[in-house]
Amino acid sequence: MSRIAIIGAGVAGLTTAYLLRGTPVEVVVFEKSRGYGGRAATRGRHGCRYDHGASSFSANSERVRRLVMAHLPTDQLVDVGKAEWTFGESGRVLRPAPAEEIRPKWTYHQGISRLGKLLVRFSRAEVHTSTRVERLQRRTDGWRVQDEDGTVYSAFDAVVLTPPAPQSAALLSASDLSGERVRRIRRAVEAVDYTSQFVYVFAFDRTFPRPGSFHSLASTSEAHPIAWLGYEHDKPGHVPDGKSIIVVHTSPSWTAKRLEQDPETFAPEVKTAAEDLLVTDLRYPSWYDVQRWRYSRPQSGLEAQVLDVGAALGLFFAGDYVQGTGRIEQAIESGFDAAQRLRETLSW
Ligand SMILES: Cc1cc2nc3c(=O)[nH]c(=O)nc-3n(C[C@H](O)[C@H](O)[C@H](O)COP(=O)(O)OP(=O)(O)OC[C@H]3O[C@@H](n4cnc5c(N)ncnc54)[C@H](O)[C@@H]3O)c2cc1C
Repeated sequence: MSRIAIIGAGVAGLTTAYLLRGTPVEVVVFEKSRGYGGRAATRGRHGCRYDHGASSFSANSERVRRLVMAHLPTDQLVDVGKAEWTFGESGRVLRPAPAEEIRPKWTYHQGISRLGKLLVRFSRAEVHTSTRVERLQRRTDGWRVQDEDGTVYSAFDAVVLTPPAPQSAALLSASDLSGERVRRIRRAVEAVDYTSQFVYVFAFDRTFPRPGSFHSLASTSEAHPIAWLGYEHDKPGHVPDGKSIIVVHTSPSWTAKRLEQDPETFAPEVKTAAEDLLVTDLRYPSWYDVQRWRYSRPQSGLEAQVLDVGAALGLFFAGDYVQGTGRIEQAIESGFDAAQRLRETLSW
């Protein structure tokens, strides 16, 4: 039986693992954090659930729709069902053309991280959480995976790397790998840059009058400190009645200038910018939360030929950057492609 190691339990890695169920392959997933889903992440606090990474996802392609709507349980799946409006540098809010306004925006009652949990539950993979992979080695009997405690897991016929490109490149650099093909792969992965974002979550024990019938506001200008703002309480199951949560994603250029500073320092500034956009008094939140996403979205994609070079060595790649777009749907697509490439290369 073949053995495959998948590094990273975000939606790309877990889609790959899920699609390998029912094949004669033993799949082992290694994830550095405690949970599943990566940037499709949810936290719980004071009886509320909130998505502090990706807010929702699309399922436009046939295979992604089938996975989410037909293969995985849909009992907790919800469409946010409200519109996204836009704003520019001046902060003036605009309503898009009706055809553009409402597109399905999927999440789950218990939060978007349920997608990762479902993929784990219905895959047959062995998943090691709190296990940061530090090194890969390629030996005659196959690949070895070494974690930060020095534990070595062996031997694998293939390794699938799914962390964001800068983290995948760092792992390749720290690994015991040589040769022109590996150098070529590393250069291509290193060439993919990511933006960074802070996410602020402001919770209130009150409701607000709404300045428009939108769920979220998306910026059309990099010059504004806010890239996106949404009402978390619009998502069924997330926030108890009578309470509100406003989630704010900062813009990549604003974040880049502040990335190494404590994001809490900027909470008042971000809250004021949100007040100006919503024309609403956001004083006295009952609590707030902050998340720094050093690698939020890729700015380009992976050179396609590198995937062939990697496959010949037993080294495979999945993740939003492989598709070139920082979206959950594209990360899922990359998992489909990686599973297909594994099947063709290892021919089981
Ligand atoms: C603030 C924000 C808002 C977003 N909004 C949306 C949105 O509304 N809609 C949308 O579609 N997309 C959105 N995205 C993008 C979306 O979240 C990502 O494109 C998608 O989740 C990427 O999935 P992935 O599996 O490729 O990567 P990840 O989710 O990053 O998964 C990679 C995994 O690898 C793990 N890992 C890294 N290094 C190691 C290591 N050495 N050892 C073991 N494990 C490791 C990480 O912990 C992580 O779990 C948003 C992202 C952010 C940050």
